[in-house]
Amino acid sequence: MIYIFCAPSGSGKSTMVRHLLTKYPNLFELSISCTTRAPRGEEVHGREYYFLTIDEFRDRIKKDDFVEYEQVYEGLYYGTLKEEIERIEKAGKQVLFDVDVKGGINLKNILGDRATSIFICPPSVEELRRRLEGRGDTSPEMIEKRLAKAETEMADMKYFDRVVMNDDLHHAYEQLDAIIEQTK
Ligand code: ADP
Ligand code: 5GP
Repeated sequence: MIYIFCAPSGSGKSTMVRHLLTKYPNLFELSISCTTRAPRGEEVHGREYYFLTIDEFRDRIKKDDFVEYEQVYEGLYYGTLKEEIERIEKAGKQVLFDVDVKGGINLKNILGDRATSIFICPPSVEELRRRLEGRGDTSPEMIEKRLAKAETEMADMKYFDRVVMNDDLHHAYEQLDAIIEQTK
């Protein structure tokens, strides 16, 4: 089973993915996406993302190397390479995706029953703002862009196989663990 994690930015996707990677270190591996945004904080090329220039990204589009890609924010592209899924499956592991909501819906349509799509629901937009500000690695302008997108993203929750409410973190982990036990 492949798991696709989606949510408005700041809802806790990375936190949920980290929980699964820690709890099941031999079972899962996170698909590393390509992006044209600059590295944040301690991010390293080939670990959090493959950081590409816009020309390199366009070249990979032309070569049809992506399973899916999106202009997630104005001028910023993100995409999943076909070879990334092959790499993880060859290593005998199950793929985890952390992608934006549109990308997740596309991936689910492509992968069908091979994948379970999970929407991480934040308690409120105000709490999203607090979490993004608290994370301390995103500029105020980018925080506004991310919050502006959150409302339309929440409306797409209905397209997902499962929803995890990430209010209390411990409770969110329990919901996620139950989904994994039922589907893995
Ligand atoms: P995303 O990957 O969806 O952008 P993150 O996992 O980076 O979101 O979470 C955003 C911030 O909120 C992080 O600083 C994280 O530690 C914090 N966070 C995640 N879940 C909770 C929660 N249930 N309660 C409080 N803070 C949380
Ligand atoms: P961030 O800049 O915070 O790392 O990510 C911004 C958004 O882009 C997040 O919602 C993240 O899930 C999404 N994202 C990351 N990789 C991909 C990808 O390969 N495809 C799509 N469609 N979105 C992605």
